Amino acid sequence: MLGSSGTNGKLCIRGTKQDYDDWNIPGWSREEVFGYMKKAENFHDKKWFKADEQNHGYDGLLNVGSYDSAPISNMILESMEDLGLRKQPYMFTTGDNPHGCGHVPRTVYKGDRTTADGYFVNKGPNLAVKTETTVDKVILEGEGEGDKLKAVAVKVIEKDGSMREIKATKEIIEGRDPMGLTSAQLNIEFFSTECYGGLKQFTDFLDGENSHAFSLIAELFAPKSRGSVTLKSADPKDNPIVYHNYLSEELDVVVLSEACKFANEIITQGKGTRDIVDGSWPAALTHHKNTEREDWVPFVRDNATTCYHPAGTAKMGTDFDPMAVLDSELRVRGVKGLRVADTSVMPLLNQGHTQMPAYAIGEKAADLIKGKSLGMSSLTEKIGSNTLSQAQNNNSNGTLVLN
Ligand SMILES: Cc1cc2nc3c(=O)[nH]c(=O)nc-3n(C[C@H](O)[C@H](O)[C@H](O)COP(=O)(O)OP(=O)(O)OC[C@H]3O[C@@H](n4cnc5c(N)ncnc54)[C@H](O)[C@@H]3O)c2cc1C
Repeated sequence: MLGSSGTNGKLCIRGTKQDYDDWNIPGWSREEVFGYMKKAENFHDKKWFKADEQNHGYDGLLNVGSYDSAPISNMILESMEDLGLRKQPYMFTTGDNPHGCGHVPRTVYKGDRTTADGYFVNKGPNLAVKTETTVDKVILEGEGEGDKLKAVAVKVIEKDGSMREIKATKEIIEGRDPMGLTSAQLNIEFFSTECYGGLKQFTDFLDGENSHAFSLIAELFAPKSRGSVTLKSADPKDNPIVYHNYLSEELDVVVLSEACKFANEIITQGKGTRDIVDGSWPAALTHHKNTEREDWVPFVRDNATTCYHPAGTAKMGTDFDPMAVLDSELRVRGVKGLRVADTSVMPLLNQGHTQMPAYAIGEKAADLIKGKSLGMSSLTEKIGSNTLSQAQNNNSNGTLVLN
């Protein structure tokens, strides 16, 4: 039910504002998408973290807070500043500047992970949640193209294997696993892990008394390499065939190798960490001695893996975009009564992480269904249902949500 929110890394990095302007879709401008992220959020301040109150939301359904870092993360931050990354306390929230370093807000509250379940805890009488139920297909009525097709029901497979049809009285909203990548400018994010992490290192443990390890991960955004996702069969329980084709474009390798070189310099030369680091872990490895970008290429090719931000497989776009299966109101083109609402709708990946856009898309979808809009002024106003007239709120029943 919670999808990836139950397993993700909890980082709330919204991306830059330009990311959403680049979508160039009415209703999805920087102000609107950031406004919906704000609407989704219930931010909890901490004494040591001065939050940007104008950009955080305080009455949404998703608990977000600053995260008490272990000493090593603050030392890495000091090294980042020492190597020229300016401290930008709000950069992950405001989306105004992609260059710098700071503390990332997390979907963590009182020490616990917070997830999309905030949206279900106080669910109203018009929402029924079905778990352990797989959507087999959307049932369409009518023939041909254009508005002649209408989504009227979904066929689901229950936990015991039985099949059932659930009818929609209004429309159907789909949320499925998105698998895809989109093009934008390459850039890098560094994030620290306070315990070391990584496939190879997991076989080699430190004593934790006299020796400790951590890692700095270089994450590439907007890679140029393209893979493919194809269906294995018409059975929804079959996983799709995903061909990642990572690092097939040389530029991705160059940028990631340069990032590893810089990360190594931050750790080995930065004043917060240079005096406490002995070398690579496991101890037999020597990559901390690499000095040139080229030295890092084999390391990148051997160790790069995914960071789980697939999106864009059911993208929205203009009438002139042949790849856009959705219009700007998330409606499936050519079918009445069917919308998609999850990260698969994103025409381009943001230069950040995808959970905050996912919540923004969900909030926006709810408003679209109800015939409401955020409005530009809502960025500074409190957003609440009391600001909406009954007439605007006339579209909220009879909608079937698949997830
Ligand atoms: C390991 C990991 C770490 C991540 N770390 C971060 C992070 O630190 N910060 C961040 O911002 N983002 C992170 N992400 C990405 C982020 O969590 C996702 O982009 C976001 O949660 C996607 O939301 P979604 O609603 O689009 O899809 P999902 O969360 O994938 O939800 C899709 C749902 O649809 C259900 N479903 C699929 N097919 C069917 C069907 N046929 N019938 C019924 N149900 C179906 C699935 O079971 C699932 O519950 C991470 C993701 C992963 C996996």
